[in-house]
Amino acid sequence: MDKNNLVDPINLKTIVDFALRKGFVYPGSEIYGGLANTWDFGPKGVLLKENLKQAWKQHFVYQRTDMLELDAGILANQKVWEASGHVSAFADLLLDCKECKSRFRADNVIEDQLEIDVEGWNLEKIDNLISGKKMTCPKCGAKNWTKVRFMSGMFETNRDKINNSVNILTEILGKIKNGEIYLNSEDIKNLQDKLETQEQNRIYLRPETCQAIFVQFKNILNTERARLPFGIAQIGKSFRNEITPKDFIFRVIELEQMEIEYFFDPEKDNWETLFDQLLETMQTFLTQKLGFNEKNFILFEHPSEKRSHYSKKTVDILYNFSFGFKELWGLAYRTDYDLTQHSKFSSQDLSYSDPQTGKKLIPHVIEPSVGLDRLFLATLFEFLEDQETRIVLKLPFNLAPYKLAILPLMKKDGLKEKAEKIYTLLRKKGVKCDFDDTGSIGKRYRRQDENGTPFCVCVDYQTLQDETVTIRNRDTMEQKRVSIDDLEKYGTVGN
Ligand SMILES: [Zn+2]
Repeated sequence: MDKNNLVDPINLKTIVDFALRKGFVYPGSEIYGGLANTWDFGPKGVLLKENLKQAWKQHFVYQRTDMLELDAGILANQKVWEASGHVSAFADLLLDCKECKSRFRADNVIEDQLEIDVEGWNLEKIDNLISGKKMTCPKCGAKNWTKVRFMSGMFETNRDKINNSVNILTEILGKIKNGEIYLNSEDIKNLQDKLETQEQNRIYLRPETCQAIFVQFKNILNTERARLPFGIAQIGKSFRNEITPKDFIFRVIELEQMEIEYFFDPEKDNWETLFDQLLETMQTFLTQKLGFNEKNFILFEHPSEKRSHYSKKTVDILYNFSFGFKELWGLAYRTDYDLTQHSKFSSQDLSYSDPQTGKKLIPHVIEPSVGLDRLFLATLFEFLEDQETRIVLKLPFNLAPYKLAILPLMKKDGLKEKAEKIYTLLRKKGVKCDFDDTGSIGKRYRRQDENGTPFCVCVDYQTLQDETVTIRNRDTMEQKRVSIDDLEKYGTVGN
């Protein structure tokens, strides 16, 4: 990628327009007017996303001897989130403008306008700050705020269909409508009991995937005879009730995470060495596996006062998005905090016994955590090029949704049928390929350049005579004649 793109990355609007127009991403439930900040991945988006996952798995799991995988459920016992601290602490500071009804994260507005970090402050202190400093609404300029309050960052659901709060409220409304406005003490007691049951039946959609790895730690030790140091990797969906989701798929309420918990004995392995090795592996993944330019990311170490209290070191890889260098990947040394918490809350022994010495310990853990949606967005920023005469998604071969596109020169004279035959055969052999017979051949080449397809295969009159085709290279636009038999190789290894 040339350096001009480093100074001035393609803007977000171009990326969004491109992704929507080409079917990489669709707005969620669009025909019903959508649901704010939800997105669906279209046919090419699915393939690109899958390729990113496979690259990650190969790099961090399959090519190593110290990694195992887990695929845990989205729903878990409520106690998991009490132990992890999410129930009490995973909340955002909510602030509404009474004039224009816009909703903000209080800490963001305060930091933008007053340059004060309110982390750890209580609500009263923040309210006093806002009224004292006459903070204005970024949308309408008014100074008419609600009080600051906490909003849980977790989505929840409830298995108890009878006693959910909607039904309880419906029952109360029914009583009011029927003229039974007065609730006697028995009614109130009844409602309180129901609400309490609902409280107990509450189920959270997981806000992060990693907790299941700690919860299943003992089972994995037992069934896999795992020896420290080793890692457990997991890809899965998480849900976060963000107040202000923004920047397309950068900050979303439903996200996919790729996380690893790397367990070790701090007396045997130096944590700083392991930390540096993992950070190195993450960077190698971006530059070598995905072909990112190293100038497009920088490292940011969290200052100690900004770190979670249990973390001894946190470094983020920030990517050069058009809206600034923003967090792509976090690496955190979480000590033995999580396993200790789950031991306490579950009253189970989650320690590890050293097979040589018999020493028991709670392993320490280092966590690399990346959002797949963000990585997807970074990939579009990294490889989309506007070359004036054409737009090219210059994806490396392993990331390209389709490796080949089969294009009959004409629809007539049996060329279409021949091309379809080749297409069907390649699909059967597992080659990811596309077929297109709509529009001029030049138009179809451009279309495939935008899809990121490395090779276009043109089936022409000569094909009918000697079983050869023209193959066109996306990046050099060079064309050459190859045998149909060679196409499988082009479609699986690139040339
Ligand atoms: Zn306002």
